[in-house]
Amino acid sequence: MSRRRVSIFGATGSIGQNTIDLIDRNPDQYDVVALTGASNITQLAKDAVRLKAQVAVTAHDHLLPDLRAALAGSDVEAAAGQVALAEAASRPADWVMSAIVGAAGLRPGLNALDQGATLALANKESLVCAGGLILQTAKENNADILPVDSEHSAIFQALVGEDMAAVERIIITASGGAFRDWPMDELANATLEQASAHPNWAMGQRITIDSASMFNKAMEVIETHEYFDVSADQIEVLVHPESMIHALVGFNDGAMMAHVGPPDMRHAIGYALHWPNRQKLPVERLDLAKIGSFTFRAPDEVRWPALRLAREVMARGGLAGAIFNAAKETALDGFISDALKFTQMAQVVDQTLSQMDAVGGHIDDTMTLDNVLHVDHLSRKTAQQIITDL
Ligand code: NDP
Repeated sequence: MSRRRVSIFGATGSIGQNTIDLIDRNPDQYDVVALTGASNITQLAKDAVRLKAQVAVTAHDHLLPDLRAALAGSDVEAAAGQVALAEAASRPADWVMSAIVGAAGLRPGLNALDQGATLALANKESLVCAGGLILQTAKENNADILPVDSEHSAIFQALVGEDMAAVERIIITASGGAFRDWPMDELANATLEQASAHPNWAMGQRITIDSASMFNKAMEVIETHEYFDVSADQIEVLVHPESMIHALVGFNDGAMMAHVGPPDMRHAIGYALHWPNRQKLPVERLDLAKIGSFTFRAPDEVRWPALRLAREVMARGGLAGAIFNAAKETALDGFISDALKFTQMAQVVDQTLSQMDAVGGHIDDTMTLDNVLHVDHLSRKTAQQIITDL
């Protein structure tokens, strides 16, 4: 088997480290082109040297001297900043993992597609902010985008060999996050520590908090709409506390295909890494007799207003996803820095969407990267002002 050239953007994070775990198990199959991170220079340098990467990039310019020092004596190039990230994404590679957190992941993903690489897409913000742009870029370059979010990987797998015209609905499951069973009146006082403890999945802090607020699921609903080109009313969310069924696809003959597996991101990452084949993966094999039962319940939109907001975003279309994401990221920063209560995050996103709608006529909402970044910038300012005024 010929060696594949791979790059990992966001290599120091939860998805990035799981990707490296899989690559480490079969080092003869891969040549590592670029590894990127932001603050965690020690991990970035350690992995880049061990995997013999061409280049290691930190997003932070001021950390370049630290990265250089950590790579001293190795053949790995050190680079820093946005231009270096873009350059690394343009280096020829066969497969690129997009696992930077936040809208910062959009540009490297587009650059990777521009050079024709297969993009394993974990960065959910790319599809939410600029679904049309990223899908069009893939099409123009004859490049594949493979979903890595576990729900979207599950849908993708359930659709293999199927005709989209026969799909009636797509159901994505939600664990319900840290506060699934909390009394409503206690949610406002939820602490950062409580929101950062996911019952089933080990993930980065931001997505873990987004799981507790259901903003993560709201993002996934929008991703499903964009990636699979299904209408908003064909997408349902189902609370499934065990996190073993990741998604279901319902067909026009009444059949449903469910994807079942342990809550381990190495499954979805490994599926994207080996696609269109399957290869043995180091994930738990489920003992269904021991598990005994799966449970389901409808989501409560009073508890989780993020789900309603996702539907509004899909109805508005255009750059509403970019507004939604920027407001959500700003509100999340507000919660992490103790400037907002847990329940105020949804309020900030709701008000940002309304205020940005009011100035909508003055914004060019053609989906170009410049317009997405402009709207992202304006929405962050608007959301920040709303937080200050609260
Ligand atoms: P983490 O927070 O664990 O990791 C984020 C990565 O991005 C790190 O490598 C971090 O570097 C880097 N980074 C942070 N800020 C910037 C920036 N401004 N510019 C460039 N790089 C930056 O996140 P996760 O791995 O949990 O998530 C990554 C993405 O995948 C997110 O979009 C998330 O929603 C999505 N996702 C994650 C899942 C999971 O199970 N974790 C599941 C499905 C989707 P450093 O650590 O060095 O500072």
